[in-house]
Amino acid sequence: MKDDAGIKENKKAKNFEDEIFFIKKLLEKNGYKFTKQKRIILKELFNADKHLNAKEIYEKLKQNNIGLATVYRTMKLFNDLGIVKEIAIEGENYYELKIFGKKPLHIHFRCIKCRDIIDVDESRVALEYLHLTKILENINGFDVYDVDIMFSGICKRCKEVLKNSTNKN
Ligand SMILES: [Zn+2]
Ligand SMILES: [Zn+2]
Repeated sequence: MKDDAGIKENKKAKNFEDEIFFIKKLLEKNGYKFTKQKRIILKELFNADKHLNAKEIYEKLKQNNIGLATVYRTMKLFNDLGIVKEIAIEGENYYELKIFGKKPLHIHFRCIKCRDIIDVDESRVALEYLHLTKILENINGFDVYDVDIMFSGICKRCKEVLKNSTNKN
């Protein structure tokens, strides 16, 4: 059990180093330096288990001497270069890694009650997603580079809470 976790941890670390090499090249190709701050921000995004906004990234990293302005600037650059995906919700931008995200193919569901942004990435959904892309390419003649689908409604957890509170009344 312990060994398993160790291997997993190693694999994750290795992946980060592999992918960071690719991003470093991408930045340099576009005339940007791969700074220590960029590396730290990337690592934070890599390890994040949810979508983060600039303020949340800043809160996690401020002890590393990274200012809020740097976070905003870096996220804008990462978005321009296609390293991150930007998800805009009520005037706030949330980010997740696009190039080497752990879940490259997924759609989003936003709960209007708890405001959670949930990744929907079951293989069945992913297949539908590919299918939809094919339709757009074949029937409409587009070349699809990126997909941005956001469903909104009430999540399972909030639905339960709502159900329980109505039952009591
Ligand atoms: Zn909810
Ligand atoms: Zn996501």
